[in-house]
Amino acid sequence: MTEPASSLLSRIGVGPKAPLRVPVEFDRLYDLAYNMWWSWDPIAYQLWGQIDAKAWVHNRNPLSLLLVVEPSTWEALASNSTFVELYSEAVERYDDYMRSTATWFAENHGEAPDETIAYLCAEYGIHHKLPLYSGGLGVLAGDHLKAASDLGVPLLAVGLLYRRGYFRQNVDPDGLQQHTYLPLELSRRSVREVLDSRTGRPLRVSVELAGRTVAVGAWRLDVGRVPLLLLDTDLPENDPADRPISHILYVRGREMRFAQEAVLGIGGARTIRALGIEPTMWHVNEGHASMSLLERMSWQLQDGADMATAEEKTAANTLFTLHTPVPAGNEAFNSDIARAYLGGTVEGVTHDDLLRLGRGKDEGRFDLGALAIRLSARTNGVSRQHSELVTEDWGDLIGGSADSITNGIHPQTWVGRNIERLFRRAIGPDWTQRVGEPAIWKALYDINDADLWRAHEAQKELMLRRLRGRLREQFGRHGNSPNRLRWIDDQLTPGRLTMVFARRFATYKRPGLLFSDRNRLHAILTNPERPCQIVFAGKAHPADREGQGLVRWIVEMTQSSEFEGHVFFIEDYNMLLGKTLVTGADVWLNTPRPPKEASGTSGMKAAVNGAVNLSVLDGWWLEGHTSANGWGFGESSDSDSADASTLYDLLESEVIPRFYERGDDGIPRVWIDTMRESMVGALTNFTAQRMVMEYVEKAYLPLASRP
Ligand SMILES: *Cc1c(COP(=O)(O)O)cnc(C)c1O
Repeated sequence: MTEPASSLLSRIGVGPKAPLRVPVEFDRLYDLAYNMWWSWDPIAYQLWGQIDAKAWVHNRNPLSLLLVVEPSTWEALASNSTFVELYSEAVERYDDYMRSTATWFAENHGEAPDETIAYLCAEYGIHHKLPLYSGGLGVLAGDHLKAASDLGVPLLAVGLLYRRGYFRQNVDPDGLQQHTYLPLELSRRSVREVLDSRTGRPLRVSVELAGRTVAVGAWRLDVGRVPLLLLDTDLPENDPADRPISHILYVRGREMRFAQEAVLGIGGARTIRALGIEPTMWHVNEGHASMSLLERMSWQLQDGADMATAEEKTAANTLFTLHTPVPAGNEAFNSDIARAYLGGTVEGVTHDDLLRLGRGKDEGRFDLGALAIRLSARTNGVSRQHSELVTEDWGDLIGGSADSITNGIHPQTWVGRNIERLFRRAIGPDWTQRVGEPAIWKALYDINDADLWRAHEAQKELMLRRLRGRLREQFGRHGNSPNRLRWIDDQLTPGRLTMVFARRFATYKRPGLLFSDRNRLHAILTNPERPCQIVFAGKAHPADREGQGLVRWIVEMTQSSEFEGHVFFIEDYNMLLGKTLVTGADVWLNTPRPPKEASGTSGMKAAVNGAVNLSVLDGWWLEGHTSANGWGFGESSDSDSADASTLYDLLESEVIPRFYERGDDGIPRVWIDTMRESMVGALTNFTAQRMVMEYVEKAYLPLASRP
């Protein structure tokens, strides 16, 4: 089968796809399954469910699905004209997408045909079946790749193939978080081994760590037009003690973490070089990948540059994006670890150089954030406020102020099916290729109230049905009685105002803030005229006992006589549950302690679907909030109880009354106005397409080195 042309993908040779038997008339399904593009194209996405709905819903993985389709099913599909048309349309869209030369990048910046931007990050949230992410940073990076692909930006991404991923969360009946690390079945994932073009054998680079040599291989995951190289140390030629280096995301042991980040940075730069690719520009996305800068410095030294020139030349075409709100959030290591692991690894860089380049706020630490700031021409923060904080904290190292590029989300990934249909109708089936044109979203003002409300209600009902299913599973595993399981059927009903609090459980996110005054909250939720329900979801890091304590505390609240039936905790927050929740929530709650939320992105995903944000004014919401699109509070307060009190006031006097104020037709007109403003605001200003366009124009092209 011909591989559609795409200059970067075609420069990275890969091994074969997994052998599957797909009949010849549908053999392009193979190509679709091997490019994650299917996951965000609304037409291609529908295909899989049409092949075998049950097998699809069972695990939402095209490769697993194609493995189990019976010959008789294929025969039936071949004579099903609706399916055949859908198949042809999806294939045509795919080929158009992959071959198109009329992209935003080509049309606006086409004079730079040799541009390659290397993008390095420790985590990527592309799809829930690829557990290579833990939370916001990873999902942002995934959305960045998808938007770059849509816009035709020549990005080459590098990360790690965590074969045991990030943990799956179960919560036991007492609220204790349990961690499961499932092995990733590679033959059921759309990754292919990267080959060495000279030998045709799997590509290998090596990284010397603590006096040992570790071999590093790579896999290619195709994210539309963007190749994502996933590095892997779990190779037969490696010592069994070195193979797990790439296994677990945010592994807890400090030395293991250091080894992992050395593989990501140093191994990543070496892999790109081994492929014969010379990026014009390097984007180090958060400090985990910053050891790539040491490797690139050593290339300069080997070319005869002195230390100062090597530093300067490395920095010249490098952008560093910081995502942490405070210096303490940076990845930093005891400098003895750096000495033990990197002695001799990066040719020409001595231990004293390492300590000088990696000196952060704390003496004696090797701080990857500080290292990246020193070795990058530009550093940016991820919202306006965050950039000001970065400037305050690091202005002396940056040598001026940090740039600001506010985060965004990839709407095709996060919009639910009913709202997507409204986009298609209002804008056209090509809306997916026009996301970055703010003017198209004015069409949302022409959608009538009843249609918008019906689409939201449909998504909300689907969400609630799925949540009841998950609760049944949780309760069943906890040994609840059949009567107790039947009780769930009457919970999470669609008539109630439904608020969602879903995010990482960390103390600064204050998941408990809502319960500051339990009597007042109880009165709000159980008002028989205007009942409300709250859904919680979120994981705490395996090493974060305080965060796990918060999970437990919320689970106890859901079981208390006051809140049972009004407050729910759904386990295993990931991109799948996240999407379910953002597509169906009425109100998206966020109560971080400001200014700790560097940006936050889940509120943007919810807004695209018409949810209304009720959030502390912090991160993106400081920029996104207007008097018409939701509620903001707690900007400058440093008191939890004052914030809680404002939150209750808003719920009692504004949010709940507006939601329940219905016309004769049962439709909440004023609420719908707020929904529409919420959608238009997020789609105009907070898409990943807008974000990537800013990265291109403010940093990628200005910093790119020209031969
Ligand atoms: C979007 C997303 C996040 C980040 O959301 P925040 O607003 O930063 O909390 C975290 N986890 C998942 C699974 C997401 O989809």
